[in-house]
Amino acid sequence: MGRKFWVGGNWKMNGDKKGINEIVKFLEAGPLDPNVEVVVGVPAIYLEYAKNNLPSTVAASAQNCYKVSKGAFTGEISPAMITDVGVKWVILGHSERRHVFGESSELVADKVVHALETGLNVVACIGEKLDEREAGKTEAVVFEQTKAISDKIKDWTNVVIAYEPVWAIGTGKTASPQQAQDVHIKLREWLKKNVSESVAKSVRIVYGGSVTAANCKELAKEADIDGFLVGGASLKPEFVQIVNANQ
Ligand code: PEP
Repeated sequence: MGRKFWVGGNWKMNGDKKGINEIVKFLEAGPLDPNVEVVVGVPAIYLEYAKNNLPSTVAASAQNCYKVSKGAFTGEISPAMITDVGVKWVILGHSERRHVFGESSELVADKVVHALETGLNVVACIGEKLDEREAGKTEAVVFEQTKAISDKIKDWTNVVIAYEPVWAIGTGKTASPQQAQDVHIKLREWLKKNVSESVAKSVRIVYGGSVTAANCKELAKEADIDGFLVGGASLKPEFVQIVNANQ
């Protein structure tokens, strides 16, 4: 069975209710390709507001959560809380969580396990830093980040992997379609060897890193790029063109 194209927006720590209303307007105007699964990552405080206002074809996602359901973890939110407000997705292991907030691959994996157990769909982000790429360590880094997760989960049905080279996030430097495809295919080979052939075939691996309306069509042509995770451009009307990259 083919992998349904998936496009996520990551609003990061941007926007307010007025800004969300504007995004809702351009998403409603679309038109959005009905063959694409569309998800937007919303700041926690606006999750319920966004969920109640987004078109029914666009799902809301949290941008993070903790690894347990409740307790003395000031400032954190749990998958149970995300589920309680009717939201079905969470982004985990984003490079800003790993590199600004110091989250380890092990913590990210624990979060993935708990979010899946709670019934959420997970966008699991992985990706190498510039010095790691330049040192020829791209594969080692993304395999280690994927292994931390695969050591702890059995069922990949509700996981989307987002390959986001850190040097391409928010920098305007996009990986070339070939650079992205090379890593995606290596990841699929790794999954085949270390998880299973069916997971390797079915799991969606999306690319993130300065995706725009101008570069999305070329990236979308690659066989192993199953969609995008989009930061800056997801706040702008051009997000509609990115969703429609295959048209
Ligand atoms: C992201 O935040 O995941 C991202 C890829 O950002 P940008 O598209 O702005 O590079």
